[in-house]
Amino acid sequence: MKRLPFFLSMGSCPRRCIYCHQGEITGTYSIPSPEDVLRAVSAMDSPCEICFFGGSFTCFPPGRQKQYLETVFAAPSGSTVRFSTHPECISRTVLKETGQYPVSMIELGISSLDDRVLKVCNRGYSGEEALASLRTVLDEGFHAGAQMMIGLPGQARESSLQDLRRIDEIRKGRPVTLRIYPCLVLDKTPLAELCREGKYTPLSVNGAAIWAGELLNEAVRLGFSVQRIGLQESESLNRSVIGGPHHPALGELARSAALSFSLKTKNPEGPWNLPSRSVSLLTGHGEYGFRLLSEITGLPLSETKHRVFFSNGDTMQPKVI
Ligand code: SF4
Repeated sequence: MKRLPFFLSMGSCPRRCIYCHQGEITGTYSIPSPEDVLRAVSAMDSPCEICFFGGSFTCFPPGRQKQYLETVFAAPSGSTVRFSTHPECISRTVLKETGQYPVSMIELGISSLDDRVLKVCNRGYSGEEALASLRTVLDEGFHAGAQMMIGLPGQARESSLQDLRRIDEIRKGRPVTLRIYPCLVLDKTPLAELCREGKYTPLSVNGAAIWAGELLNEAVRLGFSVQRIGLQESESLNRSVIGGPHHPALGELARSAALSFSLKTKNPEGPWNLPSRSVSLLTGHGEYGFRLLSEITGLPLSETKHRVFFSNGDTMQPKVI
């Protein structure tokens, strides 16, 4: 189904998170009105998913939420709506209202479940409160999304793996789709100030790929689906990033890292047999996957390559690289 995204740049956010500047990310400072949305959805000629991102949807006054949600009835039959919101503005009452519309997913900006990290980032809730909101979304029968972040101030890799396990415990097999975003340093944010003062060091691209790769492997092990790793590229994002792991293919690098780690775990020194479709995960981006596999196994790069076999039809043959 075609997606129709609307960015409600920091619309109705209860406070400003230290790393956030939605206007800089999207290049849009004004919020589309329900009338703007209505015009756009009415012009659609096939069912679409109306997406409200970039703000705290359920923190809007109920009347405003309703105006946005009702636009789905002007869209072609079969259309749905999804939105992202702040864990603080989730309640059974809010969700009862929301349940009257064909909502495909409610995404919660979880960021982290580590209370110290949440405090530094000015998120305004505790890890337990975020989990309670997620549980409420699931209990009310919605498909939930959890937006997690890596490389936040004071956040450790192990703590975000732990976050994932805590989410898994409360979901009890119900659908939660993940997005993993790196913490980038955007101009005109409190985080940029911390960075200038030397109080925060962002992740490198390699550090972010490794962290996201480990998180991805854990997510797969626990049976989550991962919808996205990394932010949507845009000119305005390019202009406004002043630090951190900004890379247009971060998701691909993370998948390469995830593969390298899982190969090492399955067989510490190889040989490794892989389907051909995985070739690019090892060879792409200057052989990032091969180099990482060589680093973590301690094998020379050329030897690492000799120990990888790709399936080609029914036979396994060495890939000439
Ligand atoms: S709640 Fe989301 S959109 Fe609002 S300031 Fe925080 S990160 Fe930005």
